[in-house]
Amino acid sequence: MMRLFVLGSGSRGNCFAVESEGVALLVDAGFSAREIERRAEAVGLELGRVAGIALTHEHGDHSTGAPRLARRLGAPVLTAPGTWSRLARRMPLATHQGIGLQTPLELGPFRVRACPVSHDAVEPLALAVQVADGTGIGVAYDLGRPTAAVRYLLRNLTALVLEANHDEVALRTSEYPPVVQRRIAGSGGHLSNRAAAELLAELHHPGLAVVVLAHLSQRCNTAEDARATVAPVLRRVGFTGALHVASQDGPLPPILVVAPARAQLSLAL
Ligand SMILES: [Zn+2]
Ligand SMILES: [Zn+2]
Repeated sequence: MMRLFVLGSGSRGNCFAVESEGVALLVDAGFSAREIERRAEAVGLELGRVAGIALTHEHGDHSTGAPRLARRLGAPVLTAPGTWSRLARRMPLATHQGIGLQTPLELGPFRVRACPVSHDAVEPLALAVQVADGTGIGVAYDLGRPTAAVRYLLRNLTALVLEANHDEVALRTSEYPPVVQRRIAGSGGHLSNRAAAELLAELHHPGLAVVVLAHLSQRCNTAEDARATVAPVLRRVGFTGALHVASQDGPLPPILVVAPARAQLSLAL
């Protein structure tokens, strides 16, 4: 069993946390340390329990608060080697642990696996965090294309945090100049609502209990549009779990992540 904290997500900042057995792992720290502390407190996430800060890539909306938080919490920063080469100067005192693509990283109750994603950063990653009872949470955003590696990493997890960045029509009719539109929709950019729905339909399995749509564009998407595109597709493939949409402006209430078979068992007891 795990808990998933969605502290906020969007182009102005991303921060999530997973918790199990009283230990927490931050996934991205893209708000100021103070804002992360404020949001964590609002949803009952004790930052004193954070055993590590995993960063998917170096862009500010994923890493801004990491230097100060790492110092305050005394927690190691976990990144791909390339990402660390960009960030190390900003946090000379932080301990670093490399996230390898071959070997999972073990930290407290967590087993962290990673794969590269197609995005315009040095060495961006998607992450999958699992605990001993088999519960697992995947986080994949800032990905231009869902590659075979991403599909492989995200299969059979209990919860998926997936980018649903833009509505394709809203992007085409937006005030963004064509070159920016191409960048967003391109292989180094972001997943559209429709691409997210297709990937989720492909990844669906009976153990998938929670889906969180994340990294919504403020200009070219709304929570309603993202949900309206993804929900019917998920329903069609038999998804009966909970569908959430992350917000830029505030945290969601903590989400309990339990594999469906176990959820039924605990209801029966
Ligand atoms: Zn990015
Ligand atoms: Zn981003």
